[in-house]
Amino acid sequence: MAVQTVASTTESVDLGPAAALSCRECGHRVPLGPVFACEECFGPLEIAYDFSGYDTEELRKRIEAGPANIWRYAPLLPVPADVAGKPNLNPGWTPLVKADNLARELGVTGGLYVKDDSGNPTHSFKDRVVAQALEAARAFGFTTLSCSSTGNLAGAVGAAAARAGFRSCVFIPHDLEQGKIVMAAIYGGDLVGIEGNYDDVNRFCSELIGDPAGEGWGFVNVNLRPYYAEGSKTLAYEIAEQLGWRLPDQLVVPIASGSQLTKIDKGLQELIKLGLVEDKPYKIFGAQAEGCSPVSVAFKAGHDVVRPQKPNTIAKSLAIGNPADGPYVLDIARRTAGAVEDVTDEQIVDAIKLLARTEGIFAETAGGVTVGVTRKLIESGVLDPTKTTVVLNTGDGLKTLDAVAGTGLTATIRPNLDSFKEAGLV
Ligand SMILES: *Cc1c(COP(=O)(O)O)cnc(C)c1O
Ligand SMILES: [Zn+2]
Repeated sequence: MAVQTVASTTESVDLGPAAALSCRECGHRVPLGPVFACEECFGPLEIAYDFSGYDTEELRKRIEAGPANIWRYAPLLPVPADVAGKPNLNPGWTPLVKADNLARELGVTGGLYVKDDSGNPTHSFKDRVVAQALEAARAFGFTTLSCSSTGNLAGAVGAAAARAGFRSCVFIPHDLEQGKIVMAAIYGGDLVGIEGNYDDVNRFCSELIGDPAGEGWGFVNVNLRPYYAEGSKTLAYEIAEQLGWRLPDQLVVPIASGSQLTKIDKGLQELIKLGLVEDKPYKIFGAQAEGCSPVSVAFKAGHDVVRPQKPNTIAKSLAIGNPADGPYVLDIARRTAGAVEDVTDEQIVDAIKLLARTEGIFAETAGGVTVGVTRKLIESGVLDPTKTTVVLNTGDGLKTLDAVAGTGLTATIRPNLDSFKEAGLV
């Protein structure tokens, strides 16, 4: 396994409560560093914390007095205590919208909420995860920020690098939506299109990490992945705090690599262990597009392994055919008595329009996937409409305008009243 040790002594690394990296498969522990795979079994490494000094009520007060961004949860993240003062994009604390109109339309009576992450600095949830990886990159002395991206991550890395004074060079499939390409390029870093799909891009990045050409490069979702992934916990923290330090009964979460879903579960478990919320059952539902549904297919077939697919869907931000966290998503969906479901491209577009029409939220295709899956799961009786349900919208519809092409003018008229009246709108 290629191991870069830019900062050779991990003793000097201050990443707050992060104590070590531990293997999700065999539990083997290694010091904090830019590594992502276990040297014993090649399992994925994740952050192990030392939360032992925390008093529940003090912690709650400290969080509530914190900034209106993810750094209010700094005591629970792999970041230094003074992170809020460092140059970064300060994402998070996005609205939890009580979606009463959508609830009425879908027949939900137990309370329906949309966690709307489209308002983050680069208009997707990816700012949360990049902010963690940036702190790790600083700690390990990297000078270039990089990633393999389905689109949103590229923009988030470009912007974070610009703010923090890093060079950036990011890799995407060459045929992404124009909005995502412009978003990724505008911050002035290098943007490289690769002739292939996301899984090809990811493979390329793994090769680059092992090559001298990648020396000094922090790939947020590859060699910094254990740190990056923790950013998704903040979605869980915010949802619980915004519900009044309460767990929802049901969550509907999109799946690309499956990292977000996995870490939302980790965040909810931490809140329970820390005593910040009352322990009660919750169900996590994973959402995919039919054109890239490897986890959903495995769930329905009762399999423990995920068979890779070649993606073909308008939900490009979720188009990962070989999702790294797929098996863990299956575990969580089954453990919590949730499910994984998928919807067609047509249902995605309908759901984007439904959310916009009912709640004034313009979601990207990933939000169409979660809302569409929510609708499908209610219709099939899998999701309980009498329970508190949170649906994630993780990105902004302005980046995926092509998906709703054809939406436009109701009428074109001459600038006079007669012409307006002829148009049949009064
Ligand atoms: C990246 C992304 C996700 C989730 O990605 P995971 O790899 O599963 O963590 C969800 N929504 C959008 C819009 C994304 O860009
Ligand atoms: Zn291991």
